[in-house]
Amino acid sequence: MPLSDISARIQAEEARVGRAPGSTRLIAVSKVQPIERVIAVLEEGHRLFGENKVQEAAGKWPELRERFPDVELHLIGPLQTNKARQAMQLFDAIETVDRPKLARTIARLKDELCTCPKLFVQINTGEEDQKAGVMPAEADAFIAECRALGLEVEGLMCIPPVEEEPSLHFALLKKIAERNGVPELSMGMSGDFEKAVAQGATYVRVGSAIFGERDYG
Ligand SMILES: *Cc1c(COP(=O)(O)O)cnc(C)c1O
Repeated sequence: MPLSDISARIQAEEARVGRAPGSTRLIAVSKVQPIERVIAVLEEGHRLFGENKVQEAAGKWPELRERFPDVELHLIGPLQTNKARQAMQLFDAIETVDRPKLARTIARLKDELCTCPKLFVQINTGEEDQKAGVMPAEADAFIAECRALGLEVEGLMCIPPVEEEPSLHFALLKKIAERNGVPELSMGMSGDFEKAVAQGATYVRVGSAIFGERDYG
C-alpha cells in the first residue's frame, strides 16, 4: 500500500476521534526489506524509519544518511548492553529500554558521549514470558529509576499479544504514561495502527503495510 494511503488513514482516524491533525507520526519499519523499497520511500520524502536490529541498521543507514541527512531512525527491537554504544551513535531514539542494567549502561555512555538518543521504555503490557519489556506493575518504579540516573523518559512503547484486542493494551500504555508524565506513545503496527491512533499514539510503527510482506528466506 502506498505510504500516502497509510498517512491518509492516520489522518482520517485523527479527525474521527478529534485529535489534532499530524499529532501521530508514522515510523516506516524497514527491517528486512529490500533496499530499493526503502530508497523508494525515502524518495517519496519520508524520513522517519524504524529498525529492530543494531547490526542490520548499521549495515544500511550510515550510507543512506549520506544521501538523506535528515533521516530520523528509531530502534524498536531489543538492545543488548554490549551494543548500547553503537546503538546510541546510530539511532535518534531507542524505544526498548527495559531493564536496570541497560538503563545504567545508557546513563554511563550518555556522560561519556555527551549525547543521548530519545529514550522510550518498553512495557510488556500482555505480561508475556517471551516478550521483552517491563511488567506493568513495575513500570512506575522503573521509570523513576531511569530518571534518577539522569535519563529523560520521552515515551513508552508496547507490542500487544497477537491474540488479544490491542485497544486494551494501548489504553493501558496510555494510562501508565499519563500517571508518570511521559509524553510520547509508540504503539500500533500494520494490523492495528488506526486503533492505536484512537487511543492516543504519537508514533505508529508500520512495516509490511507500506513495504509488503517481509521475506526472511
Ligand atoms: C516489525 C515490527 C513492526 C512492524 O510490523 P508490521 O506488522 O510489519 O507493521 C512494529 N514494531 C516492532 C517492534 C517490530 O519489530
